[in-house]
Amino acid sequence: MKVAQDKKRHVDSGTVVRVLKRIIAENGRDHIRGYAFAIFCLVVVALSTAFTAWIMESVVNEAFANRRADMVLVICGAILAAFVLRGFATYGQAVTLSKIGNNIVARYQRRLYKHLMTLSVGYFAEARSAHLAAQISQNVNGIRDVLNLTVTSTARDLLTLVSLIGVMVSKDWVLSLIVFAVAPPLLYALRYVSKRLRSATREAIETNSRVLGAMQETVQGIAVVKAFTMETELDNKVSKIIDTAERRANRIARLSERTSPLTETFAGFAISSVLAYAAFRSIYDNVPPGAFFSFVTALLMAYDPARRLAKLQVQIDRAVVNAQMIYALLDMQPAQREKPNARDLVVGPARVEFKNVVFSYAGGGPILKGVDLMAEGGQTTALVGQSGAGKSTIINLIPRFYDPAEGQILIDGQDIADVTKSSLRRQLAYVSQQPYMFEGTIRDNIRYGRPDATDTEIEEAAKLAYAHDFIVAQPEGYDTPVGENGMTLSGGQRQRLSIARALVRNAPILLLDEATSALDNESEAAVQKALETAMHGRTVIVIAHRLSTVVKADKIVVMHEGLVVEQGTHEELAQRKDGLYARLNNLQSPDRAI
Ligand code: ADP
Repeated sequence: MKVAQDKKRHVDSGTVVRVLKRIIAENGRDHIRGYAFAIFCLVVVALSTAFTAWIMESVVNEAFANRRADMVLVICGAILAAFVLRGFATYGQAVTLSKIGNNIVARYQRRLYKHLMTLSVGYFAEARSAHLAAQISQNVNGIRDVLNLTVTSTARDLLTLVSLIGVMVSKDWVLSLIVFAVAPPLLYALRYVSKRLRSATREAIETNSRVLGAMQETVQGIAVVKAFTMETELDNKVSKIIDTAERRANRIARLSERTSPLTETFAGFAISSVLAYAAFRSIYDNVPPGAFFSFVTALLMAYDPARRLAKLQVQIDRAVVNAQMIYALLDMQPAQREKPNARDLVVGPARVEFKNVVFSYAGGGPILKGVDLMAEGGQTTALVGQSGAGKSTIINLIPRFYDPAEGQILIDGQDIADVTKSSLRRQLAYVSQQPYMFEGTIRDNIRYGRPDATDTEIEEAAKLAYAHDFIVAQPEGYDTPVGENGMTLSGGQRQRLSIARALVRNAPILLLDEATSALDNESEAAVQKALETAMHGRTVIVIAHRLSTVVKADKIVVMHEGLVVEQGTHEELAQRKDGLYARLNNLQSPDRAI
């Protein structure tokens, strides 16, 4: 219940005006000429519509009562002209508004994409990516709809309605009064419906994005789904969400279509009263029928715009809910803000030091409980320890994906909290366990390491990463597109590409999460050699899973439950028979992963 109340509170009329103002402020100016043209077309539509109703009086009186053949041609010509004009004006406004709308969608998509990249890694860890993507695509359309509904409805429908009412009043004001008497109760009833609809809309949007999200997650994880034979369970679960979505959509349909019986009833009442009054007047008082026909034509024509205007609030509310969700995302501040006086990081030997670092993920207990460690410049420091000890967390803190709660992380004596994030990240290269390939060619994927790298530098890096040979064996060499997630490449090949990406970056500090997944022997050897090249001469902090990496490291840091429990070289640590390292070491044969 509380949730429903919260949702209602979101869209009051103040909110609608605020969101509308913001959308117009952000987009209106750039499209002012387009809107001016569209509004001009809409005025033409409104006036030509009113004209066809207005001229009915002459049709009836001149052609049928006075039998003036000469006037018939003039009148019919005018009617034809009005319709043709209306057709072109309708086309003009529809195309212009669609173009503006599509441009607005594109602009918000660009803005959102840019903004998403500024948000912290922590945000993405919490948000469901598929859910997020689905929500964005639904909601961006909301912003376009807010603007177009406002323009079309206020300009076309309101203007048309006002002109038609003008025709009605000028032709017969008594009849007009009868019609207007039904307006207040109708408006009251419509307000009631639209209130109920607001909360239903927000719920429906959320359920829909869950449906789309669930589908996307299944597609992405299809191998896991099949391997664990999760089909039935997932099917049941998603079926339930889809059921809910269907019920909610039906509820919205019922609610929004509830306006139809309401408006129809009132319209029937108004029209039959008008007919009765006019017919009696014609029968008993001999009033000529022309004005009445004009009036009825105007009334019938007024029905459509009036109905659309009645639905307008409901539609605007729905669009505003969508727009609000987009703005909620756009207004989200990145968690790790830069200090106002942040300087650029200046790197010499590239020594990385943790001083009493305490850290916990949002909402969780402490993961690092006072970590002190020193990774000397140009040397390799291996992090070892059981799963969950906090090794990846240490790696995550160095690029400032997260900020520590206490303590400092220093690079060559400079606290990374005080330097600009871009200068910090320029000095880092990262090779993850799961090498990720982005949309684009092999060359693009290596170049992401450093956008200004030349083709020669890219090939150089690929050679050093033992990737060149398999790249040139691909159908289009360096220009071969790698599909989503690089599906066409083997695990080892992807790893070597991500190493090439790190090499091209040529950063003094390399963060490395060694892959645990087994590769075939040949790939394994190539990846190992590529890594050795990448590590040479750099400060390397590696989450080590292979004994060979650990043994070769200049320093080994043993982690246990968020603390550094031992440090030293392999020889030193292996001698401490009761130490954790010695115990971890004994568990494994030389070729087994830690
Ligand atoms: P390791 O790399 O040594 O296996 P991690 O640093 O990955 O350890 O994890 C340490 C602890 O932090 C684990 O208990 C893990 O569940 C938790 N953890 C890791 N990432 C997150 C996250 N994004 N949000 C919340 N908890 C996390």
